[in-house]
Amino acid sequence: MQTLPKAVRQLVESFERLPGIGPKSAQRLVFYLLHTPEAYLDDFAQRLTALKRDTVLCSHCHHISEIDPCPICSDQTRDQTVLCVVEQPLDLIAIESSGTFHGLYHVLHGSIAPLSNIGPDQLFLYDLKSRLGNVTEMILATNPTMEGEATALFIREYVQSLPSDLSASLKITRIGHGIPIGADIEYADSVTLKRALEGRRAV
Ligand code: ZN
Repeated sequence: MQTLPKAVRQLVESFERLPGIGPKSAQRLVFYLLHTPEAYLDDFAQRLTALKRDTVLCSHCHHISEIDPCPICSDQTRDQTVLCVVEQPLDLIAIESSGTFHGLYHVLHGSIAPLSNIGPDQLFLYDLKSRLGNVTEMILATNPTMEGEATALFIREYVQSLPSDLSASLKITRIGHGIPIGADIEYADSVTLKRALEGRRAV
């Protein structure tokens, strides 16, 4: 590696930091790019820059968006009384694609994972409080993993500890069976997600 130009080494390092990419794959990608036309690379670089520059997190639900509030939060035809809490934007997209949910979302951007030092403070969790005004049902659609279950439990206890004007008439539900234990909502198919949402139960 030391014999390679700095530009090559640095890009290999950047690719290595991506999930699922090891040193060999990183090198292969960089050498592939070396053989692509410069116009493609310029375009690629511009798209990378635009990724952060041209997107925002919705200040209401924290979904990734071009505008704030995002189109889902701005859509007055959606059911403002049901709030679906998910771990990641990709979970929201999976549920949205299933076409079975017409309420609002709240994206936590992770789950409580003590082993990785991720606690509720590292997530968009405590601001759930500000979302509860018109909400009569909160669906906990975190993944059926150990972290996802722990997060759902934590949220339930947190919400129940809030002043009774926010929590008293609020029904808290957890998505039902269908999604295999340990699996990610992101990868569930539409039919499974539809069943999981329909089969949600009070917790
Ligand atoms: Zn939003």
